[in-house]
Amino acid sequence: MLQEIALGQKSLADYTHIAGKETVERIRELAEPMKGHRVLHVSATAFGGGVSEILYTIVPLMRDIGIDAHWHVIFGKEEFYNATKLLHNSLQGAEETLSDSEWALFDEINAINAEGLQGEWDTIIVHDPQPIGLRRGAEAKSRNWIWRCHIDLSEPNPAPIARLQPMIEEYDATVWHLPTYVPKGVDSHNGVRIIPPAIDPLSPKNMAFSPDDAAFVCKQFGIDVDRPLITQVSRFDPWKDPMGVIDAYRDVTKEIPEAQLALVGSMATDDPEGWEFFQHTFEYAEADPDIKILNNLNNVGAIEVNAFQSQSDVCLQKSIREGFGLTVTEALWKGRPTIGGNVGGIPLQISDGETGFLVDSSEQCAERCLEILADPELGKRLGRAGKEHARKEFLSPRLLRDWVELLAELDT
Ligand code: UDP
Repeated sequence: MLQEIALGQKSLADYTHIAGKETVERIRELAEPMKGHRVLHVSATAFGGGVSEILYTIVPLMRDIGIDAHWHVIFGKEEFYNATKLLHNSLQGAEETLSDSEWALFDEINAINAEGLQGEWDTIIVHDPQPIGLRRGAEAKSRNWIWRCHIDLSEPNPAPIARLQPMIEEYDATVWHLPTYVPKGVDSHNGVRIIPPAIDPLSPKNMAFSPDDAAFVCKQFGIDVDRPLITQVSRFDPWKDPMGVIDAYRDVTKEIPEAQLALVGSMATDDPEGWEFFQHTFEYAEADPDIKILNNLNNVGAIEVNAFQSQSDVCLQKSIREGFGLTVTEALWKGRPTIGGNVGGIPLQISDGETGFLVDSSEQCAERCLEILADPELGKRLGRAGKEHARKEFLSPRLLRDWVELLAELDT
């Protein structure tokens, strides 16, 4: 039996002053004929990660405009999640992939969930690869089926994608962050849609914080709020390059010795690789008192992430590889000058020199930090343009509009 996720209430009207009357009216107009449309989102988990962050907002907003939207999470077990983690990595290019017995388990758990899927739906939206096999066993339970992929499948290991491709093509539509993330072979499928993700501007992580409140929170973590602060919020993962961030910071301090660095990253208790990398990063910082390395075990949650981003003179996301980079959207939305690695979804959000800076190395990152710290007017200009770009393109109402457009289109 799949588990129904209990959700709070959200009202589209509360977003009008941010998203603009036009977008809100367009959504209401599109939603009018969709009233009572039964939509089920299915995902692998309700905790952590971008998918659940998005669903906690988009499902209540769908309800607010009259769609009968629900969110169910599949049942799984440890061996299944180990197999799907391998699948996730191999779909993003890693060599190791699932054994025959792991594929058998993958199929079995999907079949059990298909059997346990309750209700009759107009549209079922399946998120990510873990539950992709649901449609095979439960086709009759929905008129339309959409697969929403949140990861980059541009250079997958050929074996797992060959296995998934027939399943992907059975869906009436597939939805991707970027055109380049669609694997070869799937790209000619006429149901391919590009819909980038979005952040919720009214959630505790992104709501407006007064400078005093942001400073008050940061002080509690030992930040001197009268000195410059550079922050990167991200998991402790080699692709996020926290050590490259430390190198850039060290270059910055040669000219601005009073600068401080915060590396904020959440840790999963069951991720030994993450812990090992966290330890390496910690050692790399060599107990520098001006490098604060914080994680969720220091009680850093959404409010604290908001405070650090809001307080920062420069926000970084110096990734070497990146899916979309929601942390970039979060920083832009707070009007902070943002520097990102020139990879994945980051260039979609940052136009170099206009809405932030794009960099390919730690040296470049340090140079751009120094430019921003030396010229507050430049920082303000980038921050303003970045915020406007995030407002237009990457907030929940735009995502809601795109979803309702697609639901309506499939229904005609
Ligand atoms: N995040 C967080 N606390 C942390 C680190 C990350 O809340 O300590 C959040 C971050 O604010 C963002 C999400 O986790 O909302 C990460 O999404 P992103 O697309 O940047 O990267 P991913 O981790 O999915 O690769």
